Parts: sequence; structure tokens; C-alpha cells
Amino acid sequence: MCSKGDNVAVCNMKLERLLSMKGGKGQDSYANNSQAQAMHARSMLHLLEETLDNVHLNSSVSPPPFTAVDLGCSSGANTIHIIDFIVKHISKRFESAGIDPPEFTAFFSDLPSNDFNTLFQLLPPLVSNSCMEECLAADGNRSYFVAGVPGSFYRRLFPARTIDFFHSAFSLHWLSQVPESVTDRRSAAYNRGRVFIHGAGEKMATAYKRQFQADLAEFLRARAAEVKRGGSMFLVCLGRTSVDPTDQGGAGLLFGTHFQDAWDDLVREGLVPAEKRDGFNIPVYAPSLQDFKEVVEADGSFAIEKLVVYKGGSPLVVSKPDDASEVGRAFACSCRSVAGVLVEAHIGEELSNELFSRVERRATSHAKDVLVNLQFFHIVASLSFT
Ligand code: SAH
Repeated sequence: MCSKGDNVAVCNMKLERLLSMKGGKGQDSYANNSQAQAMHARSMLHLLEETLDNVHLNSSVSPPPFTAVDLGCSSGANTIHIIDFIVKHISKRFESAGIDPPEFTAFFSDLPSNDFNTLFQLLPPLVSNSCMEECLAADGNRSYFVAGVPGSFYRRLFPARTIDFFHSAFSLHWLSQVPESVTDRRSAAYNRGRVFIHGAGEKMATAYKRQFQADLAEFLRARAAEVKRGGSMFLVCLGRTSVDPTDQGGAGLLFGTHFQDAWDDLVREGLVPAEKRDGFNIPVYAPSLQDFKEVVEADGSFAIEKLVVYKGGSPLVVSKPDDASEVGRAFACSCRSVAGVLVEAHIGEELSNELFSRVERRATSHAKDVLVNLQFFHIVASLSFT
């Protein structure tokens, strides 16, 4: 519950109504800062293909549409490329089996504050079934029907047994809420002085781990009800290689170093009270393989076809790696595109500008370190439902 004086970012009831990546098409929008995610997704396409090869194909005479979902689709083009890839791959499988492909439906799902308008504007035009074959051959066209589905993937989103394939990339590390103990000043898990779990105390880290595992359990429960028998899921989220949850790897560097220091700058300069900073926490947890596996096994609804930690690389795309100011700017934009909405809700736009200009300055003066050490690892899970 929100008590008076609380702010929206730490008010857990509101997180799912508030959280979104930066919408629109501006310099620090998600649409403009997700090329790295696109590259990381491309490097994993062979794993996605393997999962798609496991999906049961309905060979009945007039089959229902093949239904694919992207969970945590956000507002960039990445989700469209992925859905396109899924539809083309499944169509090819039908054709190789000598069966006419069915129609396809794709659901783009994210939290209600996601900028669905920007996403819908990016969609290529639909080409109807009559020229499906040409359409599948031609880029720049869409051979599937679409709908946007607003809601949290930690709850039910679709009717029972209606979905053939779930995809989710770079989203499941977002928690449904900051654990209550972390924002409770009387709790041993209170995150004093820090805005992220990286480098925090053990109790705080344990609270985050529990939240992640409880959330993932809810996610699996909901999907197990919605997926058709023979359906599959391909899930990718930030992960870490260390067993220690206070070492959050790439996410730790993004939110636990220059971003943290910039908050401390604002406090030192008297622009933000210390308690205000302490009340801000990034609701992200990069799990280890073990953290993830324990939940899938305990749930027991899905068979694990593949579960690996995969090196994604840097989230920064820079044209001149030797240009420290470009690296600093890219770091700040990347950070703002994913955390900016939460920061603005907590301290307002003006202070948010102050904060990210300090993030940029600090990252610029550590440009070499940022380029070399800011590396993301991902947990990749291929799960089937029989
Ligand atoms: N899949 C996209 C975007 C990843 S950004 C890509 O590959 O580029 C992460 C997305 O997860 C954001 O849009 C965020 O709003 C969404 N997200 C976070 N928590 C969520 C939740 N509980 N339910 C649905 N979407 C969520």
C-alpha cells in the first residue's frame, strides 16, 4: 500500500501501472536505444529456431490460427522482427511437412503504460491470406493479424489453452515490485544509501532473490494455463555468472556504479535528500542459472529443453569507441531509456535531467572501463509443455 508521503516509484501497488521503457522515438527512447538488444537477440536466433522446431504443428484440415505472443514487447522494432521470424519459421515447417500453413495471430503484450502507439505505427502493412506466399517471401510486409495486450505477465493474460508459442526477451528480470522489506526503514533489508542491489547487503539481496523467484513462479503458473499442449516458450532475461546475488554483473555496472554515484552527487549537492535517494530502488534482478532453474523445476509444468547462460555483450552501440563523450552519452541514454520513467516519477523531470547529466559526465570520464567491462549475460530458457 502507498502511505502518505510515499512516492510513486517505491509504491509497489503502482509499479505495474507506471513502469515502461521510454516511449516515442526521441534520442533517449527505447525505440532508439535497443539496437544492442537487437544484436543480442540475433546472436540467439539459432536457439530460438531450436525451440520453434519443438512446437507441435496442428495438421487438421482447417486448423485454428497459429498463435504467438511476445511478452514485454516494449515500443521498438525488435518485437516486430522477432514475431516476423517466428511466423516465417513456423510457416516453413508447415510447408516442409506438406501442409498448408494456417493463419497467424501475434499478440504484443506489455504493461499498460507501454507506448503501444509507437509500436503499432512501426508495424508493416498486412497482406491478406490470398497472397500469403508472396508475402512470406517479401520483406516489409506482415502476414499475421495483431493485437496489443496490456497487462502484467505475472498474471493471466489469455484464455486457457489458446497459445502455441510464448516469446519473451529482456523483460523477466523486471520484478513485479520492489520487495517491501527493502523500502521499510525498520527492516534489516532496508537499502540505505543505495539505489540497486549491486554491492548491497546480503539481506537485501535475499529479499530481491525471493521476489524474483516468487514472480517467476507466478509467470510460469499463468503460462501453463494459457499454452496449448505441445506448445513452447523461449525466454531470455538478464542473468549473472556469479553465485553471489550482490554481484549483478552487467546490470550491476549499469545501475550500481555511475548511476549510483550520480544519485550520491545529487545528495551531496543538496538537490535530493538522502532519504529520497534511499527510497529509490531499481526493480531489476539478474538471476543465476540456479535461481532460475529452481523455480522451473519446483513448478514442474514445463520440461526444460535448454537452460543456459549466454554472453550477450555490451548494451552500448557507439560509432567511435575512442570518443569518450560518445561512450558517456550512450551509457546515459541507455540507462535513461530503461530507468528514466521510474526516476522521473520519483524526483521529477528537472532533477532527472540533473541526474542523467551527471551519469553522462561520470561515464565519459570512465569511458574505456565502461566499454570493456559493461557486458551483459543472459539466461536463455527453452521450455516445452506436454
Ligand atoms: N522485448 C523487447 C523489450 C524489452 S524491454 C526487446 O527485445 O527489445 C523490457 C520490457 O518489459 C519493457 O517494455 C517493460 O515494460 C516490460 N515489462 C516489465 N515488467 C513487466 C510485466 N510485469 N509485465 C509485462 N511487461 C513487463
